[in-house]
Amino acid sequence: MRMYDLIYSKKSGGRLTPEQIGFWVDGVTSGTIPDEQSAALLMAICWRGMETPETLALTLAMRDSGQRVDLSTVPGLKVDKHSTGGVGDKTTLILGPIVAACGVPCAMFSGRGLGHTGGTVDKYAAIPGLRVELSPDQFRASLLATGFANSAQTGDICPADRKLYALRDVTATVESIALITASIMAKKLAGGADALVLDVKCGNGAFMKSQEDALALARAMVEVGSSHGLRLKALVTRMAEPLGWAIGNALEVMESVEILKGLHGDSDLARMSFRFAAEMLILGGAAPGLGDAAAQVAAAVASGRAMDAYRAWVAANGGEPRALDDFGLLPGWSRTRQVLAERTGYVHAIQSRPLGILAMELGAGRRDRTDPLDPGVGLRVQVQVGQKVRAGEPLLTLYLNEREGQPLPTDWITIADAPCDPSPWLLETVEPVTESLRRNG
Ligand code: URA
Repeated sequence: MRMYDLIYSKKSGGRLTPEQIGFWVDGVTSGTIPDEQSAALLMAICWRGMETPETLALTLAMRDSGQRVDLSTVPGLKVDKHSTGGVGDKTTLILGPIVAACGVPCAMFSGRGLGHTGGTVDKYAAIPGLRVELSPDQFRASLLATGFANSAQTGDICPADRKLYALRDVTATVESIALITASIMAKKLAGGADALVLDVKCGNGAFMKSQEDALALARAMVEVGSSHGLRLKALVTRMAEPLGWAIGNALEVMESVEILKGLHGDSDLARMSFRFAAEMLILGGAAPGLGDAAAQVAAAVASGRAMDAYRAWVAANGGEPRALDDFGLLPGWSRTRQVLAERTGYVHAIQSRPLGILAMELGAGRRDRTDPLDPGVGLRVQVQVGQKVRAGEPLLTLYLNEREGQPLPTDWITIADAPCDPSPWLLETVEPVTESLRRNG
């Protein structure tokens, strides 16, 4: 088999066979296929797309390129959650302790941030001492001891994806539905959970800008996951303005604690986190439907059991649990600066992308994979869409250490005279066809 023929076939609109896809992924893993040939094939896939059997074959080949985590010794259905990435998205930090407190084992592998979007692993790493890279044994031990495990995916899992993702990152080939589906689902299938809730983000701050594309990605991921025995559901959610007030690693830990202590209960962030937790309880077999699941979630938060689960998990993984109650123990900032409203009116839009880029420039994120992070810096977004503001009132607080960041583009916020209602955060839900759910119990 020759890589040249695969590239030529895809460039001409052909369909790759499972054998051809296996040949490519094996060669990527072993390093026998040069990057330029993989890059050419990736670009051809971006333009020509892949049919479902091709995406399935690519997913399986990438899943099998490395180790798979075996969670069979942990009793119960293990649930995971994945988000395609957003600015200020700390829902995982909130829902993990809730799901664990409700008795469903929550087994999550998370990513680090890159560019304008943050990553769950970087947020957790702001908690002093917390181990964020667990071996399979440590992962299982955390799950058994606390009902909750979260780790960065190690190099042994899906090494082919790691190499291909790095190539996609520098060849403008990230935004392909087939490639994103295979990349995410290969890692999820290798991660060993039985069930998965997907948050597919849509809007100016997300990979998928249009609802149509986000829905197509959600459908592709649900189809691939369910045909390999995963119980799953996808929620397509709006990613226009940042989620919650905090952007930056320690700040986002603080906001997750506030929500778990019952604050900001009417925010989109709280509603979204509680809904995802409820969906995880349903998929994990702990609730028959949304009403019951939502009541369990509310009780776990109101009783303080979710916060107890958070503290127990941090302590079990080497972290300082007192930092969840005394924010002075988290990394901090040395000075602040405010951005004030230039006019009176109603907030119509907040662009998450420039805010994510500003937070990255301050040190909360990385432009390049090897950039060091400053866990204490970030932004507090002080207004929400729909809110009335007066000229001179603060819109944004910057928490700074060494770096200042570039000035924001003027259109990062739209303030106009007419009142404005915020749009709903939930756009669509996608479930597998009944047949595959029934097949998988
Ligand atoms: N996240 C991933 O893990 N892979 C992609 O392709 C895109 C987002």
